Amino acid sequence: MNLADIHNTNNNNSSNPFLSLNYEPAIESLGDDYYDEVAAAEYPQHILRWRNDALLPILGLTPSTVTDEHFIQAFGKFQERKPFLALRYHGYQFGEYNPMLGDGRGFLYGQVRGVDNRFYDFGTKGSGRTPYSRGGDGMLTLKGGVREVLAAEMLHRMGVNTSRCLSVVETGMSLWRGDEPSPTRSCVMIRMSQSHIRFGTFERLNYFQRPDLTQRLLDHVIEHYYPHLQGEEDKYVLFYAELCQRVGKLVAQWMAVGFCHGVLNTDNMSITGESFDYGPYAFIPNYDPYFTAAYFDYYGRYCYTHQPGICRFNLELLQKAFKDVIPLEDMETGIKNFDYEYRKEYRRLMLRKLGFEQLEVFQGEELLKSTLAFLKHYPVSYHHFFADLGRTFSSKWRDDAGSILHESEIGQSLGNTELFFNWSGIYHQILTNLSPDELENVAKILTQSNPQTVILKPVIESAWESIVQEDNWQPFYDLIKEIQSDK
Ligand code: AMP
Ligand code: MG
Repeated sequence: MNLADIHNTNNNNSSNPFLSLNYEPAIESLGDDYYDEVAAAEYPQHILRWRNDALLPILGLTPSTVTDEHFIQAFGKFQERKPFLALRYHGYQFGEYNPMLGDGRGFLYGQVRGVDNRFYDFGTKGSGRTPYSRGGDGMLTLKGGVREVLAAEMLHRMGVNTSRCLSVVETGMSLWRGDEPSPTRSCVMIRMSQSHIRFGTFERLNYFQRPDLTQRLLDHVIEHYYPHLQGEEDKYVLFYAELCQRVGKLVAQWMAVGFCHGVLNTDNMSITGESFDYGPYAFIPNYDPYFTAAYFDYYGRYCYTHQPGICRFNLELLQKAFKDVIPLEDMETGIKNFDYEYRKEYRRLMLRKLGFEQLEVFQGEELLKSTLAFLKHYPVSYHHFFADLGRTFSSKWRDDAGSILHESEIGQSLGNTELFFNWSGIYHQILTNLSPDELENVAKILTQSNPQTVILKPVIESAWESIVQEDNWQPFYDLIKEIQSDK
């Protein structure tokens, strides 16, 4: 994609479709106990690097009528809109309560209802200092923006309930970071998500002992994100139970697709159960349960396999913040919901990755156990195992166990090992019971559930290197196109 080629650069500000969206002052109308009004940074440059045309129809917009200049005016120069709200929140970071958080390099740009009738936030990242910046510069590195775009598009393709990025504008500043070769380039990113209300938003209200503000915000959350619960007598209890269910489902999705978020602090957990804020994330290279994404997570607190336990723990911590509005004992079922939903969804998704929609419980457990035992024991790429299963699947596998994954490098190099033999034996056994139509369905589920393109670290680094070395954005655009069109 060449941005400049496709879209004209009409400079007519008043007709900017982003400025005429039907913004609703939802959080704003709750009063300034929840936010501070802030101004956007002014940048030396504005170069549109990414526009997510796939999101425009949700806003009722057509890509051909939205110019690059419209993006820049709205989401780079931040013209003709306000107020911008830096949201207040606290959070548990690596187990320690931190009352010094809040939007330190972002703000809520606006809130709109999509044509899908869902409510969306436009949140910025890298838009300048706020009262919560502490020692930070309020900026986002270009690499940080590029990485978040890729994570969100990949997760979305994999069926994970995630925020997505609407745009990235390079802003021409030199930033200094300990974790990137510096000076490094800067950008401002727009994230479109269901909400930027976090677990930590409620933790802050509890810290200041303001059950009145907690209740007001809970009503707001239910109205906008759990509307079917409005009018229920025990709506708060039902809300917490559903939140637990949603988070259980989300973490099952992460685990199945092999995603390690990296920083599961309570300020990075959305009250809608949506996944967002992708900093030092990684897709696991192989099935190493203790794989840890963030270099500063010295003890592996947020490693891949801890994610379900950590999310459960964060939900338990959140009970403390709700305790003045929701009786503690009534929140217990919520945690049970979490356990149930997580286990059910993880099993369902993993079996789909193996090609099956319905298996007898024992058979499913046995297959899953042997798959994970195999993946854990050998340095096999988690993603390539499943991608190869989809790419090379053949109905002939039903008649000949020896042909299973034979056309894949994995089968060729590990076909003689005991664990592979066990696994392929179980897989074969299941296939022998299937009709030709059912086998065709297996092939279909395998391709749907296992994209060929996965953004393992070297893939991201390679796209980034082209940007750094030659300012060549094509590999990045090609990668996104591949992700978005991979069936
Ligand atoms: P994050 O690691 O992006 O989830 O951010 C954690 C906290 O640090 C939030 O309060 C951020 O707003 C703040 N923060 C992160 N980076 C910066 C920065 N460069 N300038 C100001 N605040 C920041
Ligand atoms: Mg964050």
